[in-house]
Amino acid sequence: MIKLEGITKSFGSLQVLKGIDLEINKGEIVSIVGPSGAGKTTLLQIMGTLDEPDAGTVAIDGTVVSRMKEKELSAFRNKNIGFVFQFHQLLPEFTALENVMIPAFIAGVSSKEATDRAMEILAFMGLTERASHKPNELSGGEKQRVAVARALINHPAVILADEPSGSLDTHNKEDLHQLFFDLRDRLGQTFVIVTHDEGLAKITDRTVHMVDGTIKKD
Ligand code: ADP
Repeated sequence: MIKLEGITKSFGSLQVLKGIDLEINKGEIVSIVGPSGAGKTTLLQIMGTLDEPDAGTVAIDGTVVSRMKEKELSAFRNKNIGFVFQFHQLLPEFTALENVMIPAFIAGVSSKEATDRAMEILAFMGLTERASHKPNELSGGEKQRVAVARALINHPAVILADEPSGSLDTHNKEDLHQLFFDLRDRLGQTFVIVTHDEGLAKITDRTVHMVDGTIKKD
């Protein structure tokens, strides 16, 4: 589902990624762990086509994205990749439902279809009663689940998450992690999760250890 070959990336004179090769299978839940500054977020951003490597190729579901033009790329990204960040990044002036619908609107989905899809996902997450609430009326765990719902609205094959449970307490953390597994089991999505949470890393299908811009071999 995701294939990275020979990925390098520098910021100025600092080489942050030093030739990364990584393949992730469909339906796999992979955690990326390692010390701060190891290059985990940079790798995730490149995997998600939000940043470009200096060298190497990125292929998502057989499509080599590293050679796409920006317009084509942003449509591809919006359709095929869902993002979940540490801080939910919901738009405060919109309701939970409207926030979830945004990527569908960007993809040109009709208002009715987007509403139907969003309500179905919110229901799956037990958030039906919260659909018309604004982010400041939701708990931390609920906000993060709304952010996951938004990442799912276009049925992307890949979900990339950067410290998704980093701002949650233990109970909400476990619920969110369980949600990832439920989604994978139900929808077959592929998850790549950058995390410091050892409990999560332990239960993922595979853990990739990054150190100083490289993947540590076990
Ligand atoms: P990690 O996620 O493992 O903590 P990052 O990928 O965030 O690591 O960062 C790796 C290194 O690259 C760090 O030293 C960071 O300061 C640097 N870095 C990341 N993004 C940028 C950027 N846009 N400009 C300059 N330096 C950056």
